[in-house]
Amino acid sequence: METADVVIIGSGIVGSSVAYHLAQAGCTNVLVLEREAHQGKGSTGKSMGGVRAQFSTPVNIQMSKYSIDFFSKFDEVVGHPADYRAHGYLFCATNDNHLAYLKANRERQNALGVTNVEWVTPEDIVKMVPQLRVDDIRGGTFCPTDGFVDPHSVMMGFMLNARESGVRLWLDTQVTGIEVESSQSSSNRLAAALVPPNSESVGTGADSKRDFERCRVRGVQTTRGFISTRVVVNAAGAWAAEVAEMAGAELPVEPLRRQLVPTEPFDQLPRRFPMVIDMSTGFHFRREGQGILLAWNDPQETPGFKMEFDPAFVEKILTRAASRVPVLAEAEVNPRRAWAGLYEMTPDHHAIIGPAPNVDGLYFVNGFSGHGVMHSPASGRVAADLILQGRSDLIDARQLSVERFGEGKLLEETAVL
Ligand SMILES: Cc1cc2nc3c(=O)[nH]c(=O)nc-3n(C[C@H](O)[C@H](O)[C@H](O)COP(=O)(O)OP(=O)(O)OC[C@H]3O[C@@H](n4cnc5c(N)ncnc54)[C@H](O)[C@@H]3O)c2cc1C
Repeated sequence: METADVVIIGSGIVGSSVAYHLAQAGCTNVLVLEREAHQGKGSTGKSMGGVRAQFSTPVNIQMSKYSIDFFSKFDEVVGHPADYRAHGYLFCATNDNHLAYLKANRERQNALGVTNVEWVTPEDIVKMVPQLRVDDIRGGTFCPTDGFVDPHSVMMGFMLNARESGVRLWLDTQVTGIEVESSQSSSNRLAAALVPPNSESVGTGADSKRDFERCRVRGVQTTRGFISTRVVVNAAGAWAAEVAEMAGAELPVEPLRRQLVPTEPFDQLPRRFPMVIDMSTGFHFRREGQGILLAWNDPQETPGFKMEFDPAFVEKILTRAASRVPVLAEAEVNPRRAWAGLYEMTPDHHAIIGPAPNVDGLYFVNGFSGHGVMHSPASGRVAADLILQGRSDLIDARQLSVERFGEGKLLEETAVL
């Protein structure tokens, strides 16, 4: 029978980062299972690749700070390129509420060590992007170390490095079930065996009554047969709730379609400029090769596994684009080059990282709500810490536990693009 110390379900950027961080910590008997024939066919391959520290909640700022620092030395540390481009994110405010919001965020970012977020005037903004209409812009913030990565390269870099250390990747292998057994004794869990006796364990309390009600992972069923393991990591992206359900666990993660529209080659905007966010509509854009990549979060979108691009979206986004950047009215768009993918949304727009409350050995690394690429270094590190040590010194991981929803301890992130 096939066995592994840890089985990771999903080989997107998050599963790949978990594999890398486990291997770095010396845990290399890891098997990553991917149902597709290639990596990156989930949300990772659809992403806009934006990375930013300009968030509103401390935990997201901390995750970004660690991750952006990691991206800046990724090539050297991981041995493969991330294509990190520090072109910045420029938030443009059009009313007092936006200004107050950016000011409060900037103070919080500064207090957490992100000290390079600059306050910018409409004149500064015009210098960065002369084609922007700024008559109603009151000011904004710019962080020069925000920017972009190539999500596919980051995912491949993490996985190639992990495989060089002995991690195995099985493509074309769908997980169809997670087998659990009664967990009256937790003594033989891998996590329990590796957790130092006095460490502060997250969600793996040894209360005997709870233990009685708990079960523990014994393996996964796949299209290639059964794999015996004591630790399963759910890194199944937008499909995470159905994977959790296989073990009888509940996970509040819903798929939500996001659509991106690239223009044909367009030379009426600078060769290099930041990701620009028009806070009046949420429209944002950046350069992508010769063209411009346009994004907008349609508030009429409803949850579901909708993967098809809706051609009617082109007019909606071009209206917002031309209103903020009049020259974009002249940009050509071929709807067949536009695409749709899935955000994996949680009720408070924050990731869920940590053990499943009632299934020993099952860990969640899910629900990134549009930030899974930029937070992949931090989330892989935190997940590996929790699996191997029961705690992480990078963040207070209890904030991101799934229990927060039942306990009413939601963390609302409003800076969602
Ligand atoms: C249009 C768009 C733009 C985005 N822009 C950004 C951005 O600018 N910045 C940012 O940080 N994030 C962005 N995101 C979000 C980001 O792409 C995701 O948060 C991130 O890719 C999630 O990575 P993942 O590895 O968890 O999921 P995925 O990449 O979806 O990987 C999950 C994998 O699990 C596999 N899987 C699922 N079920 C099973 C099973 N039963 N058995 C085996 N394998 C299974 C899937 O095949 C898939 O390969 C964007 C997303 C979209 C759609």
